Amino acid sequence: MHDALLNIDGSQGEGGGQIIRSSLALSMCLGKPFQITHIRANRDRPGLQSQHLTAVTSARTIVDADVEGAEIGSQQLFFIPKQVTPGDYHFSIGTAGSTTLVLQTLLPALMMADKPSNLVLEGGTHNPFAPPYDFLVKTFLPLIQRMGPGITARLDRTGFAPGGGGILHITIQPVERLKPLMLTERGKILQQSAEVLLAHLAEHIAYRELKVIAGSLGYSPDQLHFQLVESAYGPGNVVLIYVRSESVTEVFSAFGERGLPAEQVAAKAVNDAKHYLQSNAVVGKNLADQLLIPLALAGQGAFLTQKPSLHTITNMTVIKQFMNVEFITRQINPDAWLISLP
Ligand code: ATP
Repeated sequence: MHDALLNIDGSQGEGGGQIIRSSLALSMCLGKPFQITHIRANRDRPGLQSQHLTAVTSARTIVDADVEGAEIGSQQLFFIPKQVTPGDYHFSIGTAGSTTLVLQTLLPALMMADKPSNLVLEGGTHNPFAPPYDFLVKTFLPLIQRMGPGITARLDRTGFAPGGGGILHITIQPVERLKPLMLTERGKILQQSAEVLLAHLAEHIAYRELKVIAGSLGYSPDQLHFQLVESAYGPGNVVLIYVRSESVTEVFSAFGERGLPAEQVAAKAVNDAKHYLQSNAVVGKNLADQLLIPLALAGQGAFLTQKPSLHTITNMTVIKQFMNVEFITRQINPDAWLISLP
């Protein structure tokens, strides 16, 4: 019965959660049923975990899909969408799983729906290996807004892993057609700054992180910020480095971990920011994989980025399985690649 469905291999390329999220997002937008096997096969705990499962169940609600395999640990899923119903939705992950990654799944369909939507997402808002809230509001959403949709985001509570409890509000004013996005020249760097968020941990952690940033990037005290996040449920620490140029604001982040010295946490974010600054890329590595679906839906666009990650390469392949689009990747200089739709 399911033979005619588009068949996605969840173990291809990166073999992680993005394959299932991108498949859901495109299936919702295009009304294409799919089945996916070997979900997150390259991860230590393969199959759907709570963030991915919430992506599936919230997508199911919004497009009234027929679904099989929506269970924790499931490595196979059938998803048969009906129509997109925009509106007011509240989805809770139930753990500290990333709310911004659930949003990554739902946003494409809702930003092209025929009516506005309001989303409340509960879970983590600042998770390692996921876009932190600050990246969402400073980097990703402003670019989506340039493509037409009106989107606002509000953080009602910060959620770190494993404490969770974060609350993210999103309002979406959709458009019928997305405008192409061209990010091929960075222009001048206008501003740089850093911020450390700290919840229920010793303050010296933040001071040590800011000292590393000041020393390695030459920031003056007015470029260094520190915020105690007292409302967070559990401990957490994230270093955020903001680089605003004429064309984009990029956010580089690194998360504190038990046993990892604060200096090393800061050094990771500093390294990412330095590599970006040394290249003449406009779009950083993480932003690159996240822009591919909006670009494909617009049908046109280009961006200059750093060396494409396996996430980016895999996402292009998944998109091609759903849509008749072929991204062209061309190395322009030792540190920059142009990704474009012809
Ligand atoms: P898994 O547990 O399977 O690894 P996942 O569901 O956490 O999966 P990935 O497939 O690894 O997800 O995808 C992670 C997504 O988060 C990618 O879109 C990536 O660009 C984004 N991301 C990761 N780290 C950052 C960061 N520091 N800043 C912005 N975005 C990030």
